Amino acid sequence: MKETFDVIVVGGSYAGLSAAMALGRALQKVLIIDGGMPANRFTPYSHNFITHDGRPPVEIASLARKQVAEYVTVKRMEGLLAQVEKEKHEFVVQLDSRQTYYTKKMIFATGIIDQLPDIPGLMDCWGKSVLHCPYCHGYEVRDETTGILGNGDYGFEFSGLISNWTRQLTLFTNGQSTLSPGQAAKIRHRQIPIVEKAIAQLDHHNGSLQRIIFKDGTATFIKALYVRPSFVQQCSIPEVLGCELTEDGYIKVDNSQRTTVHGVYACGDNTTRIRTVANAVAMGTTAGMMVNKELVMEEFEQA
Ligand SMILES: Cc1cc2nc3c(=O)[nH]c(=O)nc-3n(C[C@H](O)[C@H](O)[C@H](O)COP(=O)(O)OP(=O)(O)OC[C@H]3O[C@@H](n4cnc5c(N)ncnc54)[C@H](O)[C@@H]3O)c2cc1C
Repeated sequence: MKETFDVIVVGGSYAGLSAAMALGRALQKVLIIDGGMPANRFTPYSHNFITHDGRPPVEIASLARKQVAEYVTVKRMEGLLAQVEKEKHEFVVQLDSRQTYYTKKMIFATGIIDQLPDIPGLMDCWGKSVLHCPYCHGYEVRDETTGILGNGDYGFEFSGLISNWTRQLTLFTNGQSTLSPGQAAKIRHRQIPIVEKAIAQLDHHNGSLQRIIFKDGTATFIKALYVRPSFVQQCSIPEVLGCELTEDGYIKVDNSQRTTVHGVYACGDNTTRIRTVANAVAMGTTAGMMVNKELVMEEFEQA
């Protein structure tokens, strides 16, 4: 039997659950499809989200799922979205299990995949002592011996930002510096050493960084290392549907979280470099409210 929803939300993490809550409260029939791979699954504690500061991400996510489950018009399934086709008035949505559903609108809250530098030991420390964001984890390692793995404009910008949290800072370019002479001079003026030696591996204890070991056999003690990895979209189906991406690779959305394809919305990490739980929740709520408004007004104006 054909099962039709008002909205299918792909991605049931912070952004997707927030969108679903707004829609459930607006009495819309919603299906959440979730692959269960939130970006912060590597970190033991999440910070900078008011009311949940310092709590394990799994606890926040599980409470969110419980609260959303209270809304009887919202259904949640574990699985992966495999394919979507846009027909005249609806989307035909297929899961990897081959189940097919139909929906009037779609919200993609599918996050991104970090492409971490290929340095042995780095992945083990990701989210624990190798960090993506000082607002999420900087306070916990304030004044500690800290490194930045970066080069060029990004290395310069991150050196400036992280110097707010610690004076014991070193920039590791992992090879020849691509900083401009002006950038290098400004970094050195702040007593931040620039180390160009190639990195062999990170020495750690259960994800807690101990040393950076260089290819020349030398090593340096370190407690935290900031990295801003490149990324790819975790789900490429919005692009297949025709959603435009920004130059940086995010799904292009307007202030209402509308993509460039009618009836398709996106929210959370897949649309922004402001990468926090709080922002994902805010964008998800906006997407849910705006999709509801579109559904209600389309119906209202038909008369
Ligand atoms: C290591 C690390 C630590 C972090 N620490 C903090 C912190 O302390 N504080 C903070 O505020 N922020 C932190 N963040 C950022 C925060 O995790 C993200 O901003 C947030 O998870 C974004 O939520 P989201 O819902 O947009 O995406 P995600 O949480 O990444 O969730 C995306 C969901 O979509 C699902 N999905 C993707 N494709 C499909 C598909 N085809 N079918 C079905 N489901 C799909 C995934 O399985 C996943 O469940 C951290 C990030 C990282 C990487």
